[in-house]
Amino acid sequence: MPDLTASRISVTGLVSDVSVRDDVRSVAMRLGLLGWVRLEADGMLCLHAEGERDAVAQLVATLPSIGGVDSVSERQVRVEGHEQFAIRGVPAGVFVVQEHQATAHHFDVRLEVDGVMRSWAVPKGPSMDPTVKRFAVQVEDHTLEHNHFEAAAGKGGVIIWDRGQYEQGGRVPWPEALERGHAVFVLHGEKLHGGFALQRTSDGEKPQWLLIKRKDDYAARGSDIVAERPESVHSGLTLAELIGGSSRPPSSRARRSVPRRRRSGA
Ligand code: MN
Repeated sequence: MPDLTASRISVTGLVSDVSVRDDVRSVAMRLGLLGWVRLEADGMLCLHAEGERDAVAQLVATLPSIGGVDSVSERQVRVEGHEQFAIRGVPAGVFVVQEHQATAHHFDVRLEVDGVMRSWAVPKGPSMDPTVKRFAVQVEDHTLEHNHFEAAAGKGGVIIWDRGQYEQGGRVPWPEALERGHAVFVLHGEKLHGGFALQRTSDGEKPQWLLIKRKDDYAARGSDIVAERPESVHSGLTLAELIGGSSRPPSSRARRSVPRRRRSGA
């Protein structure tokens, strides 16, 4: 049995350049190590490295020879079972959530993977509450162009409810993580932030999944972001306003709703 260990390693110095993360990853991969490297907001590099004890020790010994590295500190953590050595904190592509009124009302959550938008129809929409599991049906891939679609259509319509970039997370490289039915990712949207997981619960022609907020600083127990932030990030209109054909911006409606008495008394 190999002697497996895992370390969290902090690296200071002039390490913000992406080339340093590339160098760290090359050394780690050459040593057969798994885990990730990420640039923290404070300008330090943080690494998770796991594998054979000798290889982790060799990584720690090699890091100071990488250009820009000043000091290296290490603490033991538990082995997490990574299957890749990833560079974290870099965008993997765009995501969009489109609220869609068709025969049924739902939210389409789409993630850019290999040039297409992988898509899930989520009847109740995403939640920032990590105790809430939202049912999601995988639907056909969409084009990136469709991310910009917002319009009334037939008796229904589509608004762009949220959008931004995302990072791939988890222990398994993408798109394999999706194929295996457990994908972790970090959203940087206008409404949705932080880690989420998609967990497949059944296969078949229309695979079923659960969309779950991960516990992190952005998680908000008891919140209902779909109700709190119903407006389009593109136009500011709610889906009902878009379908209703209102051409007034939301602000003019807000003024109209001011009670008459207060206005005449001014
Ligand atoms: Mn749809």
